[in-house]
Amino acid sequence: MPDNIASHPLKKEITPPSCESTRGLAAPLGTAAAVTAGIAPDGGLYVPRSLPLLPWREWLDLDYSAVAARVVRLLAPDLPEAGVAAAAAVYGDGRFGPGSPAPLIEAGALGVLELWHGPTAAFKDMALQALPHLLTAAAAQVAAGREILILTATSGDTGKAALEGFRDVPGASVCVFYPDGGVSAVQEKQMLTTGGNNTFVAAVRGNFDVCQQAVKTAFTTEWLREALAERGVLFSSANSINWGRLLPQIVYYIWSYLEAVRQNRVKAGAPVNFAVPTGNFGNILAGWYARSMGLPVGRLLCASNRNNVLADFFRDGVYDVNREFFRTESPSMDILVSSNFERLLFELGGRDGEKIRRLYADLQEKSRFQVEESVLKACQAVFAGGWTDEDACRAVIRRVWREWRYLLDPHTAIAWGMAEDYRAASGDETYTIVVSTASPFKFAPAVLAALTETAPAEPWAALAELEQVTGWPAPQALRGLDTKKERREALLAPEEIAAWVSGKFAPPF
Ligand SMILES: *Cc1c(COP(=O)(O)O)cnc(C)c1O
Repeated sequence: MPDNIASHPLKKEITPPSCESTRGLAAPLGTAAAVTAGIAPDGGLYVPRSLPLLPWREWLDLDYSAVAARVVRLLAPDLPEAGVAAAAAVYGDGRFGPGSPAPLIEAGALGVLELWHGPTAAFKDMALQALPHLLTAAAAQVAAGREILILTATSGDTGKAALEGFRDVPGASVCVFYPDGGVSAVQEKQMLTTGGNNTFVAAVRGNFDVCQQAVKTAFTTEWLREALAERGVLFSSANSINWGRLLPQIVYYIWSYLEAVRQNRVKAGAPVNFAVPTGNFGNILAGWYARSMGLPVGRLLCASNRNNVLADFFRDGVYDVNREFFRTESPSMDILVSSNFERLLFELGGRDGEKIRRLYADLQEKSRFQVEESVLKACQAVFAGGWTDEDACRAVIRRVWREWRYLLDPHTAIAWGMAEDYRAASGDETYTIVVSTASPFKFAPAVLAALTETAPAEPWAALAELEQVTGWPAPQALRGLDTKKERREALLAPEEIAAWVSGKFAPPF
């Protein structure tokens, strides 16, 4: 076999389960250990060392839970079976509503994959309802008897989904950190009203990138790790730096393809494109993995808001975060450093840890890096980047509602806008699925303002008015939130996180 095939992630045989770090210095681990660890000790992210081929044609008659169980077993055969079964069962037990957990809707010429029927009304539930089952089973296998402490940075939606997913899960606690003033009123209220005696929420001064970096630093702070270990507590992450977060996300790409075939949108085997509203690059990367395992995916359309680092990268191969940071009406995409992008660069850059270390050292020192032409070409062969500003986003929401009576949240609208722009510019007529990441009611002020062309109203009034204007019901999870009692633990400077965690979970006796 020539070298370039041997080193390609796609291998035909199902090899023994194993993950390795993108930075190449940490020892390879089994999936259970990688999921338990979250981030690798060399600062890299775990990726699978090889990928199985998906027998998706055999899955056309299966329900969502059955597809989920098969995908996770194929990719991570070493995860304990009971954990995989429990994780897969969450999609069929009613918490994602009475219908399909991920309906594929038709609106105009585009398909829309609705991933927001879970308990927090955003797509993060698709992974974070399942992850606690995978993680506690994995930890029981590799670190029996230890308590797990989840640390998570959030731009709004991950935090609430993690809190909901881990609330009252035995043997686990969860601390969520969010940028002070950097999440929507509804998102903040959702997080602060979770309840449960193992959930903690703190605001951090700074934007999401600062918050995410501070939490990453806490993870790799040796004294904190040791202090917690002495008390039988083990760190892990529910952010998409954890490979266990991406496993359940791969499932809905496969599921939506099966749905498109079942609905006669495409012939079995014909490609579909996906347009994905992108922040940390976790969602769209799961699509790349599905494609790499043989799912017929054409292009992955990576849609950004004004924080358009990725759109620039896909054009010229320069990743440059030396720029103004914008707070937008799609706050879950207000990110400059997309942590999962490192995984893609590793996969498409020859799986060379040293190269990744060099790129990320550049990013640290110069706030930018540039990849070789060959890597850029490999990225451009699969991905297209694009971005949409606030006015265009509102115009899309308004137009899609008027033309199709379909209501988009601002994140999804950005992907919709890009799907249209891409189709017009490229002439690529491939059936395209827009990945819808949040209920429009989660961002009611922006959506209402787009429809009525007025200034955004106060969030709770906007929610009620949006129901009235559209005749759509708001998700149960968002009703009555405004009168619930809040609990915020702290407002921290980034460098205070480690001490705060230590004070809570490893107090000096
Ligand atoms: C998290 C989130 C995104 C971005 O997803 P990534 O996996 O971080 O790229 C987009 N839209 C919504 C509503 C989200 O919650």
